[in-house]
Amino acid sequence: MAVKTQVSTEIDLDRPGKQQGYLRVPYSHNLAGWAELQIPITVIANGSGPTLLAIGGTHGDEFEGPVALMKLARALQPEEVQGRVIIIPALNLPAVRAGTRLSPVDGMNMNRAFPGEYNGSVTSMIAHYMTHVLMPLADIVMDIHSGGRSMVFYPCATLHRVPDDAQYARMLAAARIWGTRYVFIYTDVAGEGLLPVQAERMGKLVVTTEMGGGGECNPGVLRVAERGIRNIMIQQGLLSGQIEVPPYEVTLVAASDPADYVAAPADGVYESLFEVGEEVRAGQMVGRVHPVERCDRPPEPVMARTTGILIGRRAIGVTSQGDVVATIARVVEG
Ligand code: CA
Repeated sequence: MAVKTQVSTEIDLDRPGKQQGYLRVPYSHNLAGWAELQIPITVIANGSGPTLLAIGGTHGDEFEGPVALMKLARALQPEEVQGRVIIIPALNLPAVRAGTRLSPVDGMNMNRAFPGEYNGSVTSMIAHYMTHVLMPLADIVMDIHSGGRSMVFYPCATLHRVPDDAQYARMLAAARIWGTRYVFIYTDVAGEGLLPVQAERMGKLVVTTEMGGGGECNPGVLRVAERGIRNIMIQQGLLSGQIEVPPYEVTLVAASDPADYVAAPADGVYESLFEVGEEVRAGQMVGRVHPVERCDRPPEPVMARTTGILIGRRAIGVTSQGDVVATIARVVEG
């Protein structure tokens, strides 16, 4: 049955070979009444095998995913693939162009827009298409994130503790070969409507990451992302070759307690006293918020409430009350 969607494409998702084209989203605005947004998509299919849906640019200020996936989309040839690879390097294209987390077109966060709406705004229509057309085709849904402009993470593969044990075991096995020192089990502390949650509910093998951040495309982090994508493709039988194991043991960490997410108590400039990857202890000061207008007043201390590894910290100095400035993860058993 054909799915009702306003997004169209010239790509035949069932055809073998390599196709490059666009997802075309209706976008009527002040300077073009009849217009569409053209989101690049590459489909590479050959023989029988699983389908990987690989996504970057869900947030527009995270660049390792888009760059790694653009390079893959250019280089990958059908004869190398067993199965199908669907690559969308810049899912929230207007946001990637603008280098912003949210879409400048409708102000929406793509990673809060799921499952999306048939006749919603641009971001919502894209999410609806992903939910109803592309995700149902996929066995593996990969959504490559970093910390964006506002956060820096110790680069890690991430996952939710999904309720289905078998699905969790598959997701954990994939996260373990992504190739980062830490695999981070995270909790959603800032709203619903996430892309990975939608894919998890559909039973997919979901692969997500937090690769660095600060709004840059970091060369070391990019190398890890490219290796991770390749490792997953080999692990899932899409690509032949050797999985490249990093020279360190993988440690599973989790921030499952809301207290692991430390918010700024006041407006000001945030000074982190630790770098990501360092250990912090409950009751210890992890940072301070300096009130810029008042040198005669002491800074507001920011205290850790839990003990663990600082997995993420605020990247931007200027901080508002309620911004998460430190995320603390604890080592857990896999
Ligand atoms: Ca992100």
